[in-house]
Amino acid sequence: MEQSEKDNYIKAGETVQKARKLAREEAKPGTKLVDIAEKVEKSIRNDGLEPAFPVNLSINEQAAHYTPPPGGDRELKADDVLKVDIGAHSDGFIADTALTVNPSGKHQDMIETVEKVLEEALDFVEPGKTIGEFGRHVERQVPGEYNIVTNLTGHYLDRYTQHAGVSVPNCDNASTHEFKKGDAVAIEPFISTGSGKMMNGKPGNIYMLESNRSVRGRAERKLMGEIKNFNGLPFTSRWLNNYGGRYKMALNKLVQKGVVKSYDVLKDREGSLVAQAEHTVLVGMDGGENIVTTRR
Ligand code: MN
Ligand code: MN
Repeated sequence: MEQSEKDNYIKAGETVQKARKLAREEAKPGTKLVDIAEKVEKSIRNDGLEPAFPVNLSINEQAAHYTPPPGGDRELKADDVLKVDIGAHSDGFIADTALTVNPSGKHQDMIETVEKVLEEALDFVEPGKTIGEFGRHVERQVPGEYNIVTNLTGHYLDRYTQHAGVSVPNCDNASTHEFKKGDAVAIEPFISTGSGKMMNGKPGNIYMLESNRSVRGRAERKLMGEIKNFNGLPFTSRWLNNYGGRYKMALNKLVQKGVVKSYDVLKDREGSLVAQAEHTVLVGMDGGENIVTTRR
């Protein structure tokens, strides 16, 4: 890894560290989710960077891939288990991090558990260890009252690519792929109070450009002009200058035609509670030690 690349990863990490702190402060009962998302995204932009994806605010049985729509009125409740997943990129180099918040403290044990699992996972990563060994180790860290989510995974990162091909599950998938020095990896265990299987729910207002095929229709073409500015990274309808009315229809058309991908919310199959913790790590990059870019 070149020095400039490392510097960009670290810069993106510092920006999301600030965004994490802000998200914790803002996640109070009665606050609208859309306000939390917009403040966190604004803090990234105020730092001179861009979000790598819309802030995901997934509640209770939702694990990931929900961001509030424009004007969304859902407020955070005291007992909600809110996953805040934040990404920023510096010149395409991404920091990806997540935390879980529960204002009333009723589910504090679950949150502390998943944070501890993440720490154990980060400690385990080193050049030469395999992804299979990693998953086996992580799964063993989860105490009996919870289950690791087996069908959501961490992932490698690459420039302008959040999911760079190699998945990093939190259970043993028998992969012999070895971590090596300079790998940029997002480590993200999820735990559930149920059996730990996620399924697709409704569309979560998160989209990504899938094809550069030319499109017909004035509204579609205008939207495509905006969408190309996201450099192939995920975006949300909240970020579009043209939205509502015929533009809302145009976006749906782009999805139907397979030009734009729409992400579904990922939620617990049994409706059980889900908690998540995530950090981005540069493997072996500090004199053999890992650099966790998103943690101070
Ligand atoms: Mn994430
Ligand atoms: Mn991730």
